[in-house]
Amino acid sequence: MKRVLLKLSGEALAGEKHTGFDEATVTEVAKQVKVLVEEGVEVGVVIGGGNFWRGRSSETIDRTKADQIGMLATVMNCIYVSEIFRSVGMKTEIFTPFACGAMTKLFSKDEANACFAEKKVAFFAGGTGHPYFSTDTTTVLRAIEIEAETILLAKAVDGVYDSDPKTNPNAKKYDSVHIQEVIDQKLAVVDLTASILCMENKMPMLVFGLNEENSIIRAAKGEIDGTKVLV
Ligand code: UDP
Repeated sequence: MKRVLLKLSGEALAGEKHTGFDEATVTEVAKQVKVLVEEGVEVGVVIGGGNFWRGRSSETIDRTKADQIGMLATVMNCIYVSEIFRSVGMKTEIFTPFACGAMTKLFSKDEANACFAEKKVAFFAGGTGHPYFSTDTTTVLRAIEIEAETILLAKAVDGVYDSDPKTNPNAKKYDSVHIQEVIDQKLAVVDLTASILCMENKMPMLVFGLNEENSIIRAAKGEIDGTKVLV
């Protein structure tokens, strides 16, 4: 792989605590990405915000405002993870689709390419910048924009199943599944908006379990037993 887009859910960063950050988990991610970068792989990263906030409306909180909080949570996550990446010896840049003062750079394809040319890891924070979207959609959008070869979707589960393996012990794991089937069967991979963007732009994904040993390295080398989402 020459260039990949790695998606980490916010909850994956929280480890057992399910909220905030788990430094050991993030350091392990950083060490694996460092191996890839040293081997010449260009890595973009999108991180969710679920460890702090999920967009939700209520009588008091308007959906648009709730989603803005969610997008800012992803900025906090990227600042944190970027610092851990730097602590293990990587160079990083954080991009957002809106101005965040001195904290991040405005995203553009050219700036992202310049960042990769300097052997830096590019973090794509702040989601799409719009409410009613998700970091799944951000992941697919940025992967298409930066012309990544594939999306590496690191999850708590080790692939795509025909039903929830947590509640159904007979759930069957797919070795590969076409994006059309993901859409038709409403399989839990990425949300519908993101799935359609994937399909229309032929962006493949590899879904795998983050908690498996060296999972990110093995996923980038195609050596992990996850699920390939074909397009
Ligand atoms: N969000 C948004 N627009 C975007 C991306 C994210 O409004 O383009 C908000 C939305 O409220 C979402 C939250 O940010 O619930 C966190 O993102 P997500 O739920 O995708 O994070 P994850 O579940 O992957 O941790």
